[in-house]
Amino acid sequence: MALTASQYNFIMRQYEERQTRNRHLREERLRHIYRTVEGYQALDESVASFSVAQGKKMLAGDDGALSQLKDKLSELSHNRARLLVQNGYPENFLQPVFDCPDCRDTGYADGQKCHCFKQAEIALLYKQSNLESILEKENFSTLSYSYFTEDTLTNYRKAVEKCRNFAGNFKTIYQNLFFYGTVGTGKTFLSNCIAKECIEKGSSVLYFSAAGLFDLLARSARDYKNQEEMSALCNDLYSCDLLIIDDLGTETASAFTLSHFFTCLNERLLRRKPIIISTNLSLEDCQNRYQDRIFSRIASNFDFCKLTGPDIRMAKRREM
Ligand SMILES: [Zn+2]
Repeated sequence: MALTASQYNFIMRQYEERQTRNRHLREERLRHIYRTVEGYQALDESVASFSVAQGKKMLAGDDGALSQLKDKLSELSHNRARLLVQNGYPENFLQPVFDCPDCRDTGYADGQKCHCFKQAEIALLYKQSNLESILEKENFSTLSYSYFTEDTLTNYRKAVEKCRNFAGNFKTIYQNLFFYGTVGTGKTFLSNCIAKECIEKGSSVLYFSAAGLFDLLARSARDYKNQEEMSALCNDLYSCDLLIIDDLGTETASAFTLSHFFTCLNERLLRRKPIIISTNLSLEDCQNRYQDRIFSRIASNFDFCKLTGPDIRMAKRREM
């Protein structure tokens, strides 16, 4: 889907806020260093006074002044870094701070929308702003094996390993994953672990419940005036770096939405764009529920990962 002007402005305002926040953070750090690291402020001031002095010499026609200035500045910057380290701070403690170093929090890198901009766009257009808070809780660092018993633990460990490999090699090895198994065995959790790592490494991730995706396809198509919206939606579905479809089998499907779903699958497979699908259906039910052309695409292009074990969600709820 395409951004409206006010949505675009909303995203750009977030960048401005980020820049302001990080500028303040850096100023705060500088004041702290001036207070606590003896000699640091004096070094900073000598940079300014020496630059002015050399500037005057240059204006007066002193040809050597510029190279003297460069030498002196590099010496001073070296001294400042050393002073920080001696006092237990990282060398880059006073460097500018950015949430996204790739675009320096401007939203654009090399004249193109940065990956962080694309993810912000997705969050806004597909109302996925809650994804961020879910991923804060559900990621590889919060993963737990404690709900599994001996017989199911080995299988779960293998699944986790597969997911770590998927996320770790995301940009170099093309793969699609298909999680299936009974309810509450961690399928969504593992998809979220992958999503979090991919977003952090600068990939755009579009996440849908199957019900949500099929609804959106049906809605976009019903409104015949909305051809542009539909083609923008398809463009996002085909081109985002990772598409996650959760809970396949819970959607209300029509011949029309199924055909769009097939096109989406096919298009991404052709473009070698990874997909993760999860379902509570058995493979047999899947095969019965979906047309042969859909199931055969999945069977021949996805890495299957079966999850078994206790219902983690129920176990967590009981604990609470
Ligand atoms: Zn960025």
